[in-house]
Amino acid sequence: MDISLDLAGRRVLVFGGALAARRVLARFLAAEAIVYLASVPVDGHPPERPHPQVRPVEYPHFPHGWRDLVSAVDLVVLVEVSAATERIIVDACASQRVWLSREPAASVAPLGRVTLVGGGPGDDGLLTMAAVQALRDADIVFYDKLSPHDRLDEWCPGAEHVDVGKTPGHHATPQAEIERMLVDSALAGLTVVRLKGGDPFVFGRGGEEVVACREAGVPVTVISGVTSAISVPAAAGIPVTHRDLSRVFTVLSGHAPLSENELAHLAGLGGTIVVLMGIGTLPHLTAGLARHGMRTDMPVAIVEQGFSARQRTTKARLDTITPLAAKLGARSPAVLVIGEVVRLSEHDDAASDELLQAIASNAEH
Ligand code: SAH
Repeated sequence: MDISLDLAGRRVLVFGGALAARRVLARFLAAEAIVYLASVPVDGHPPERPHPQVRPVEYPHFPHGWRDLVSAVDLVVLVEVSAATERIIVDACASQRVWLSREPAASVAPLGRVTLVGGGPGDDGLLTMAAVQALRDADIVFYDKLSPHDRLDEWCPGAEHVDVGKTPGHHATPQAEIERMLVDSALAGLTVVRLKGGDPFVFGRGGEEVVACREAGVPVTVISGVTSAISVPAAAGIPVTHRDLSRVFTVLSGHAPLSENELAHLAGLGGTIVVLMGIGTLPHLTAGLARHGMRTDMPVAIVEQGFSARQRTTKARLDTITPLAAKLGARSPAVLVIGEVVRLSEHDDAASDELLQAIASNAEH
């Protein structure tokens, strides 16, 4: 069960090694609690002190000391203790009616790891549970502009947040530099999250980051995200496939113009075409598809800034979308959809009603 408590000014006693408990300590410090750390004494050495604001306390020397210790705080947190010590602490907390919580230990391996996390198209609700967990476990998060990053303070308050400022067509931090930072942080022992927009493996250069980690011997995993290629059309009411209407959908990058050969194949494929980063090459694409035989009245939609308050959908035909987009000043980030499915978003439109009826009667026969 997850509950939120206001811990400002409350005393929190954490049991565990300073390294294993570092993220837990950082979270409680960020919540403005007064944080104490009780670590197992090692051969008479003073306990490790991870942060100047964390106050070290010693394990009690006598059995009754445990009750005094826990009753002096508002919350006890177990990160890493032996089974015998855990039993003593649990009993002491129960008898003194002190809240007790268990938190996972952070890895203390000398080598850290990198997790590429797909952050979805920008809506918090489309972040996966695995993504939220990875953020919670992170020591450092490198994020893009297109990833949902507004609430990082809440999701991973103990972690360092680094903006690598990637916006479409403009890479504020060069890709090689991002890869170097990921690898260096992991080699320094940190648990690294690389938070990306949509899915890391859909035009996100996630593959390159995985290769960079592997080459450096850094363990790397990928958490898939909800891609804008499907979710942004959906946010505008457009399904990328629809029975009897579109049984293929092709996702392409409009970053660079397609070759004649690619245009010819694309025009002949049928189904739905979804284009990311396609605003700049829209005139080239629409003219090319028409040249290779696509119907000029094929419906086209541009969905800008999906899942934001500024989301805007512009619909036209293959031969009218380019001047319309120019007139309206359509801008990135936007997803372009070309295909009959675009009509399905037009609930109040006579043409779409006709189309839906045609599909329904086809299905009956
Ligand atoms: N990996 C990402 C895509 C990265 S390329 C994914 O799977 O979604 C960046 C492009 O994605 C943008 O230029 C735009 O075409 C599209 N995009 C991402 N988020 C978007 C959003 N919220 N609204 C509209 N387009 C978006």
